[in-house]
Amino acid sequence: ELILAIETSCDETSAAVIKDGKEILSNIVSSQIESHKRFGGVVPEIASRHHVEQITLIIEEAMSEAEVTFKDLSAIAVTEGPGLVGALLIGVNAAKAMAFAHNLPLIGVHHIAGHIYANQLIHKLEFPLLTLVVSGGHTELVYMESDGSFEIIGETRDDAVGEAYDKVARTIGLPYPGGPHIDKLAHEGEPSYDLPRAWLEPESFDFSFSGLKSAVINTLHNQKQRGEEINTQDLAASFQASVIDVLITKTKKAQEKYNVKQVLLAGGVAANKGLRAELKRTFDHTKVELIIPPLNLCTDNAAMIGAAASIKYKQGKFSAYDLNGNPGLDLERE
Ligand code: ATP
Ligand code: MG
Ligand code: FE
Repeated sequence: ELILAIETSCDETSAAVIKDGKEILSNIVSSQIESHKRFGGVVPEIASRHHVEQITLIIEEAMSEAEVTFKDLSAIAVTEGPGLVGALLIGVNAAKAMAFAHNLPLIGVHHIAGHIYANQLIHKLEFPLLTLVVSGGHTELVYMESDGSFEIIGETRDDAVGEAYDKVARTIGLPYPGGPHIDKLAHEGEPSYDLPRAWLEPESFDFSFSGLKSAVINTLHNQKQRGEEINTQDLAASFQASVIDVLITKTKKAQEKYNVKQVLLAGGVAANKGLRAELKRTFDHTKVELIIPPLNLCTDNAAMIGAAASIKYKQGKFSAYDLNGNPGLDLERE
């Protein structure tokens, strides 16, 4: 089947055409990072305006690059939530209009289901599996018994990993989004700063990153006040080491407890070089299969939405033409 997918949940306007849930015929992504940079983060109103300006062009480009017409399509998919409501609505309304005009089924997709199913574009998924979701708004361990069934076995109690990265980067004075900059700095330093790791209760798969974030920010302030030289490379390396230690230790424990066949990485922070390398080290030479998406499928894109939509298409899970954007959409009810 052929699915046209649309993603506008945050600051990327994207459209893709996906064949049989695994083959990318096109995946056009227009990023707005430059427009938000001077504000140090995504400004919702500006994001919506950009989506309005871009959406038609991006969809036309995706269709023409894939060399398909609306007559060839099986369905139209769109990110229904979570995300910025004004941004979501641009994609949802475009998808609804096209589905209605061309009499095609409409499929609303959870953004995080999309991040997870990005992995299906590079590898066949086998269940049960576990996904470590690390993004700008989410940090979760998601257990899947079968296609389309999501159980969140652990999640952050405060900041998402990406959020912590971006805030630490801002305090150091790095541009938005700070994740990739911290990642780069970390590789130039040594983890010489003693920073906390939030393990929470022994059996818990939950996370907490606000204490670590504050520790980094306090270290910076205190050293500055005392007039001491700050080794930002070492500080970044120490921050990243703490994040990776907690993420991987909990992922490994969850993999053992749930005895899954595959471990997947998903979300924007999946682009992190240190995390990718350490995960490989952890699961290499074990019977668990590790799947890590290529960099262009880690950050927001519509191809991943098309991959997730393909499962809903096969399961007959369609949306009504009065679909609405839902910033609080629940993954477990997907
Ligand atoms: P969500 O998916 O939770 O709705 P989002 O869509 O805004 O949030 P993504 O686009 O999936 O988030 O990811 C963006 C985040 O990934 C940002 O916080 C960014 O700093 C972070 N990020 C990107 N590359 C890296 C990297 N190499 N190391 C660490 N973080 C990174
Ligand atoms: Mg983004
Ligand atoms: Fe995302």
